Amino acid sequence: MWRRGFPGGTHPHYHKDLSSGKAIEELAAPEEAVIPLHQHTGAPSEPIVKVGDRVRVGTKIGEAAGAISVPTHSSIAGEVKKIEPRPHPLGANILSVVIANDGSDEEEEKAVLKPAAEQTREEMIGAIKEAGIVGLGGAAFPTFFKLSPPKDYPVDTVILNGAECEPYLTADHRLMLEHAEEIVQGGKIIMKVLDARQGFIAIEENKPDAIALMEKLVAGGNGFRVAEMPERYPQGAEKQLIKALLRREVPCGGLPFHVGTLVQNVGTALAIYEAVTEGRPLTRRVATVTGSAVAEPKNLMVRIGTPVAQLIEACGGYRGEVGKLIVGGPMMGLAQFTDEVPVIKGTSGILVLTEEEAVVPDPEPCIRCARCVDTCPMRLVPCTIQDYVEYGLLDEATDWGLMDCIECGCCAFVCPARRRLVGFFKYGKALVMERRKKSAAS
Ligand code: SF4
Ligand code: SF4
Repeated sequence: MWRRGFPGGTHPHYHKDLSSGKAIEELAAPEEAVIPLHQHTGAPSEPIVKVGDRVRVGTKIGEAAGAISVPTHSSIAGEVKKIEPRPHPLGANILSVVIANDGSDEEEEKAVLKPAAEQTREEMIGAIKEAGIVGLGGAAFPTFFKLSPPKDYPVDTVILNGAECEPYLTADHRLMLEHAEEIVQGGKIIMKVLDARQGFIAIEENKPDAIALMEKLVAGGNGFRVAEMPERYPQGAEKQLIKALLRREVPCGGLPFHVGTLVQNVGTALAIYEAVTEGRPLTRRVATVTGSAVAEPKNLMVRIGTPVAQLIEACGGYRGEVGKLIVGGPMMGLAQFTDEVPVIKGTSGILVLTEEEAVVPDPEPCIRCARCVDTCPMRLVPCTIQDYVEYGLLDEATDWGLMDCIECGCCAFVCPARRRLVGFFKYGKALVMERRKKSAAS
């Protein structure tokens, strides 16, 4: 057991037993898929189909547009009906391709690839980019870009992230139980691309069955070791995982490659395996549908673009009065105003809370107790940063580390005054980014 840990963190109730024992079920393809062209960090893809075009499962419908961007593919076969802004889980209306399912499920011809062992590093990265793969743990950063660090920063260590520390979510846990071999193969591809010398599969101690299975698989000595991590939120955050496992500290404003490390979610490793060995684009993913206000929580294999309402229906519908619908988990997820939003590449789960659970008491004045400071895994002073953002003092907020906040929610979780800390940080970061864009443009 890796007991070294990271500073701060907290212990929310995990509630994973609602769905951890449920094997992944394949959800039927939707009648209509709404596929946003912006599902990743970076520039949105640009549409390359028009209304009336016929597409198949895996047809490219959006081309990467920019250095940090990936293509988008159709998840169903049918006809493009509309290309227009539609509600998106991130909040705004985003340009989306609306496809009516013709029921054929016909697949696009896959790229002909050499066996993985014979592919060069460049060929593998190309296949991963063409497949539209992004980090499936939530951040949705384009994977090909992460696998191409600057030459001055060689990566010697790969960490496959199976911590899944976010409460309620069990999609990665089930993937590790049901697709362990492919995940390890995907990890080997990542190691080959980076020419890394060591690999870890990091799993929180609350998944002993996944730990045992992975340990059995890597026992032959194929470059990977299983790291059993203590249960502590946010154990699965990149910087915290690196610190806990390797004692390496990612510098402020830096990325894992600055300390010779790459972290990839286990679901992403599986997608990499499928892209490099089968030429399969990213058109589906596993999402946990859970919470007290869902009749029967499940883990579902879902086509990208499926409306959330269909996932809920497949789980027996809502139970009682719904208080809050969240895409993601309770700590980092985003509350939704409609269940018509589609599943996107970064959708790891859907959480539905009852009215009683969703009550958020009004915030009270800060009592300067410093609990937020003690729990912050980034060693920030959340109460002070919040003050600066609230009063529009963005330079001061930035000096105090606003942009280093990983939005983990630990500070808000422990705050006795129930201050809306993370909301302020997201707002402040958006303002800083807008200001930076304007100054770059001028
Ligand atoms: S935990 Fe809440 S009340 Fe305590 S110092 Fe931080 S913001 Fe203020
Ligand atoms: S949300 Fe930001 S400020 Fe709050 S604990 Fe997490 S990293 Fe620290």
